[in-house]
Amino acid sequence: MILVVNAGSSSIKFKLFNTSDSKNPVALVDGLAERISVDGRLTIEVDGEKHVFEDKMNDHLDAVKLILAKFTDLKVIEKPEDIKGIGFRIVHGGDKIVETVELTQEIKKTIEDNIRLAPLHNPGALTSINAFQESLPNAKLVGCFDTSYHQTMPEISYMYNVPYEWYTDLKVRKYGFHGISYEYIAFKAQEIFNKKQDDLNLIVCHLGNGASICAIKNGKSYNTTMGLTPLAGLMMGTRSGDIDPSIIQYVAKETQKDVFQITDILNKESGLHGVSKVSSDMRDVIAEAQNNNPKAKLALDLYTQTVADFVVKFANQINDKIDGIIFTAGIGENASLVREKVINKCGLLGLEIDSTLNDQKYSDYLAISSSNSKIQVLKVRTNEELMICNETLRFL
Ligand code: ADP
Repeated sequence: MILVVNAGSSSIKFKLFNTSDSKNPVALVDGLAERISVDGRLTIEVDGEKHVFEDKMNDHLDAVKLILAKFTDLKVIEKPEDIKGIGFRIVHGGDKIVETVELTQEIKKTIEDNIRLAPLHNPGALTSINAFQESLPNAKLVGCFDTSYHQTMPEISYMYNVPYEWYTDLKVRKYGFHGISYEYIAFKAQEIFNKKQDDLNLIVCHLGNGASICAIKNGKSYNTTMGLTPLAGLMMGTRSGDIDPSIIQYVAKETQKDVFQITDILNKESGLHGVSKVSSDMRDVIAEAQNNNPKAKLALDLYTQTVADFVVKFANQINDKIDGIIFTAGIGENASLVREKVINKCGLLGLEIDSTLNDQKYSDYLAISSSNSKIQVLKVRTNEELMICNETLRFL
């Protein structure tokens, strides 16, 4: 059994895999412990049936103990020791962690050092690593980092046009995120295109609540839209993406807000939510746009234009034959209107979408471009948890 964990400051999301067939791990349980240190609510889904427990959880250790106890009660495991490995999704590995690693003291120290780069994400991961380590001392603990896949980016992609000492002294550079998803897609693409990963050039649009694009050149990350933080690049559910940096100073002066408050607004009240005034959820924005709500239409146009502009920019940067343009994550996998609008705005690339295929149901992946398209366009379901499970299995 391998447990995959994605922890925040007050929540632990998890998925338990049976890996007795190592080539085909089977997800047995899906769950979420939330409101940790507030009151506590644990949801565990087994065989499509949801079990909800309203139990007080004072901290992450309480939550982990409760999760393991309920696993045994629900008979998904006989005893906690059946869990041989735990794979953690960790947001920031800085520039030191370039691949999946075992969570040694030294690596935990690196995660801690990177709290200043990911203050909202790394602390929760660290607390939950310690809690699982205490509860299951014999399990192998492995860390998969959202940043590590992007450590192959060349200097031309990761450097900003700012004083050089910001890079040397403050580590200001592009790190990029969603790396676990991109790694999964790059791996899966070998099967899709029947080519070795090192021979693949792809543009992958990971469009979820958070959204980014990755230019994959020879199987490796060459450039990506997120930067020092996940606020950069595309317009997202609540994040602005790229804006003129001077807007911050201007709004501060005009509204008497400080830089922290304004950055908070750029993270939590901008993007689809901020422009449409409808919702951060793409389904609601599409529904309202189809109702002729002008702000929702504008939000949808801005969103798809930004994605298209980066796709074209990255095609220029790959500067070689591109095997495929891939849409993935909640919006990328499901929103046919978004895919259609993006493709229609990439005029320079000579893409053509097949609307029947674009709307067609699929399980794993499906090509949605017509035979006239100069580059194949596909929708592919990402699976970050499976990627983490497989990586953890490798360490066992
Ligand atoms: P997260 O980044 O939280 O993992 P997801 O990858 O689950 O997010 O993506 C969430 C987004 O996907 C939401 O904006 C949601 O509206 C969108 N989405 C999910 N299903 C559909 C659909 N059928 N049509 C349009 N958008 C969808």
